[in-house]
Amino acid sequence: TAEIIDGKAAAQRLRERVALHAAAFEQAAGRKAGLAVVLVGEDPASAVYVRSKGKATLAAGMASFEHRLPADTPQAELLTLVDALNADAAVDGILVQLPLPRHIDESAVLLRISPDKDVDGFHPVNAGRLATGLPGFVPCTPLGCLLLMEERLGSVAGKDAVVIGRSNIVGKPMAALLTRASATVTIAHSRTQDLAAHVARADIVVAAVGIPQFVKGEWIKPGATVIDVGINRTDAGLVGDVDFAGAASVAGAITPVPGGVGPMTIACLLRNTLVAAHRAAGVPLDERAI
Ligand code: NAD
Repeated sequence: TAEIIDGKAAAQRLRERVALHAAAFEQAAGRKAGLAVVLVGEDPASAVYVRSKGKATLAAGMASFEHRLPADTPQAELLTLVDALNADAAVDGILVQLPLPRHIDESAVLLRISPDKDVDGFHPVNAGRLATGLPGFVPCTPLGCLLLMEERLGSVAGKDAVVIGRSNIVGKPMAALLTRASATVTIAHSRTQDLAAHVARADIVVAAVGIPQFVKGEWIKPGATVIDVGINRTDAGLVGDVDFAGAASVAGAITPVPGGVGPMTIACLLRNTLVAAHRAAGVPLDERAI
């Protein structure tokens, strides 16, 4: 049976590395690295995410700036706040929690964030930098997935990877990252024919579909590394996009839900914020070492 990839432990180690570098940054720059998080409205899940991001930021020895705006905040007012955060030298990273209320144009807001403070990596400039091999910011969830794969496999170079899902926040950047790391990448999506045959060839499977237990154990190639991004709330509790029991009996390694990819996402947000701070302050950092 498969090794269970402990994302919680990996995230804890990453957070410790970030905290060490954050303390050194404060020494060198004379200020803390800072992350601003903006929440519009009272979506309970978003409020939980924002609270845990703030707590994790403080625990890593960085400054946290939380901005909570009422659900009926006009778009212009939100854009004005983003402009102020772009101009604020104490703020290295800006994160606007999604989803935004319906009267606000999400892409207009994301476009307004300075690409150099876009620690979520959602700005098209950062998507372009990732695609063309320039330094920028990589979205936190796929970055966390790659770090988990590399912990188990060392390098992913030359491996056959199938990414199921092509969203801008998970599937597409995941495929771009794997391509950059020299894997051979297939992107599968809702129009893919014979998904089972694609998965059967894959050394690495990333499931980011949003359908509970969608990827079946009998599709998995023996020994494959299975990364389950899905977070689905069901009557049976939180489940992933992979049939965990079935896949765990053939895979070489698999991430559980919860406790796999999820914890890595926030740790990678802290990592991106730390990197942003070093770049902004001109303090050197070996980004591969964290
Ligand atoms: P999304 O709904 O934006 O994208 C889903 C993708 O799945 C689409 O690209 C679609 O083409 C593909 N898809 C749908 N049906 C399919 C089918 N039958 N066959 C093959 N592909 C199909 O979702 P998302 O934002 O990319 O998130 C995916 C999952 O990951 C969700 O469960 C979400 O909750 C979870 N998620 C987790 C984290 C985290 O762990 N921190 C972060 C983001 C998203």
